[in-house]
Amino acid sequence: MITRQTFLKLALAASMLVGFAVPGALAAGGDLIGVAMPTKSSQRWIDDGNNIVKLLAAKGYKPDLQYADDDIPNQLAQIENMLTKGAKVLVIASIDGTTLSDVLSKAKDSGVKVIAYDRLIKGTPNVDYYATFDNFQVGVQQASSIVDGLGLKDGKGPFNIELFGGSPDDNNAYFFYDGALSVLQPYIDAKKLVVRSGQTGMDKVSTLRWDPATAQARMDNLLSAYYGNAKLDAVLSPYDGISIGIISSLKGVGYGSGSLKMPVVSGQDAELQSIKSIIAGEQYSTIFKDTRELAKVTVAMIDAIVSGKQPEVNDTKTYNNGKKVVPAYLLKPVIVTKANWKPALVDTGYYTLDQLK
Ligand code: BGC
Repeated sequence: MITRQTFLKLALAASMLVGFAVPGALAAGGDLIGVAMPTKSSQRWIDDGNNIVKLLAAKGYKPDLQYADDDIPNQLAQIENMLTKGAKVLVIASIDGTTLSDVLSKAKDSGVKVIAYDRLIKGTPNVDYYATFDNFQVGVQQASSIVDGLGLKDGKGPFNIELFGGSPDDNNAYFFYDGALSVLQPYIDAKKLVVRSGQTGMDKVSTLRWDPATAQARMDNLLSAYYGNAKLDAVLSPYDGISIGIISSLKGVGYGSGSLKMPVVSGQDAELQSIKSIIAGEQYSTIFKDTRELAKVTVAMIDAIVSGKQPEVNDTKTYNNGKKVVPAYLLKPVIVTKANWKPALVDTGYYTLDQLK
């Protein structure tokens, strides 16, 4: 006969054994996790990579972090190599979300799970989860900040605006643009916002590879072709690097000095240089996407996958990649302007005050 006390002792011992045998240390067991990032040309991807590596290493995984210099064949080769080395899970922030089908079918054949990181991977059933921010909301916030900056809700206007989009091979770019236009279109229809160039739609306003120099050149052209005698009041920019290109073009023709007010320019990523620009009164807004949180969500997904559980997701409708709706975890973006950069970025420990000097 087992007494109740002995039974409890046995149960406790068993649960401790199970406790040791399940997730974390042993289950991770030094599993190799491939982390493919697009580029180091923007601080956010450097932070993303570092944040994930830190969390993975702390849990006993072996991270293999690679950057592809925005070169598609390079990224493909890096992912192939991760598979050859025996990665258990791939975390991929794609350069072109449509070019990975072959390598991901190899991943599938080897039982490797795939997490699309920040950017959706398209045209393949072999992507298991998607960790990202609410990308439509990012666009809504970019445009809302422009509406606020111009005072459109107070009945001010009409104003001249030009629109910039992100890279046409990045699914996010369409979500940002559509989100932004959901706010701006009613003002455009009411002629409270005027796009003098007539250039609207992602086919006309996109910026390949999110390249600041490409955006700067386009802004130069727009200014000389359409703003010889007119003043530009706002620019929808989808990303801080593009905003930097736009602002230097604007400065080149005198905006931001004398009586020529700098237009209201949006952005995204809360990049250091752009926060400084916001503090200096040049860029108007950015969208803060806390990459530390995205890393946490991603590593939680990896933990779940490795221990045979279902990763937590909070969206199973939005991200159809052409082959399936990819279950996603969406984080919330935050608008940052001169009014709230300190509580949003310094008080949260994202930057120190010193970094912003
Ligand atoms: C990301 C943005 C980033 C852009 C350019 C997008 O996929 O979601 O945060 O600004 O790429 O790097």
